[in-house]
Amino acid sequence: MIEITGLRKSFGDNIVLKDISMRISKGSVVALLGPSGSGKSTLLRCVNLLTIPDLGSVRVGTHQMTYSGAATRLPGDRALARFRANTGMVFQHFNLFAHMTVLQNVMEGPVTVLRTSKAVAREQAQALLAKVGLSGKANQHPSQLSGGQKQRVAIARALAMQPQVMLFDEVTSALDPELVGEVLGVIRDLAKDGMTMILVTHEMAFAREVADQVVFMREGMVLESGPAKDIIDNPQHSATQQFFARYH
Ligand code: ATP
Ligand code: MG
Repeated sequence: MIEITGLRKSFGDNIVLKDISMRISKGSVVALLGPSGSGKSTLLRCVNLLTIPDLGSVRVGTHQMTYSGAATRLPGDRALARFRANTGMVFQHFNLFAHMTVLQNVMEGPVTVLRTSKAVAREQAQALLAKVGLSGKANQHPSQLSGGQKQRVAIARALAMQPQVMLFDEVTSALDPELVGEVLGVIRDLAKDGMTMILVTHEMAFAREVADQVVFMREGMVLESGPAKDIIDNPQHSATQQFFARYH
C-alpha cells in the first residue's frame, strides 16, 4: 500500500532523512517512533507531500511520486491536492476552519477537491461524525468543542476524502490526559476497520496494542524495525533500549 524507496531530505546543511526505505502493506498499522528531531514528522510530511523530498520515491496505492533533486517535476495543483487527499493527515494541532461549523469542516474537502455534490457530502459527513461519536455537534463551531472533540472532527475531516492511508502525527500530545482516550478509541476503531496507518505517538502502550510494526528512527535513519511487540519489549539496539526504558 505504501512503498518508500531511498528517500532523502535536507534542510540546508541539515540532512534530515538519509535514505529511508520501507513497505507498509494494506491494512497494517505502523508506529513511527524515535527521539525528538529524528525526522518522524518530516517523513510523514513527505508521504503527504507537505514537504517535497530531494530524492527517492513514495508510492501510496496507485499514486507514485519520484524525486530527482532540482529536476523533480511536480504535478499541477489539482493532481497534488488529490494525492494529498489520498493520504489523510492529522496533526497535533487540529487546524479546523474556525468560521465553519463542524459539519461544514467535514464537507469542505469533498466538495472543493473531489467535486462531490453538497447533498452527498453532507450525508457522508453526518455518517463520519456519527463514527467519531459527534453527531450531536454537527452545527457547532470548533471554538465550542473540547480538544478531544476537535481532534475527532479533524479525523472525520481527513476520512471524508476517502483516503487509502491515514497519517497521525502526535495527535494526542496537546490534549489533556482525560481527553486522550476518546481520540485513541477512534484510531483503534480505524485499525479494526483495516485502515492502513502510520502513527507517530508517545502513547507507548497504545502503539504496542494497535501497531503491527514499529519503525524506530534516529538521526534520519531507520535504526530498528519489526513487529511492534518485539521492538517495544525487546529492542536490540542500545539507543532503542534507552528510548523505551523511559516508558517502562
Ligand atoms: P519531534 O519528536 O520533536 O516532533 P521529529 O522526529 O518529528 O521530532 P522533525 O520535525 O521531522 O523531527 O525534524 C527533523 C529535523 O528537521 C530537525 O532537525 C528539524 O529542525 C529539521 N526541520 C524540520 N522541518 C524543517 C523546516 N521546515 N526547515 C528547516 N528544518 C526543518
Ligand atoms: Mg514531530
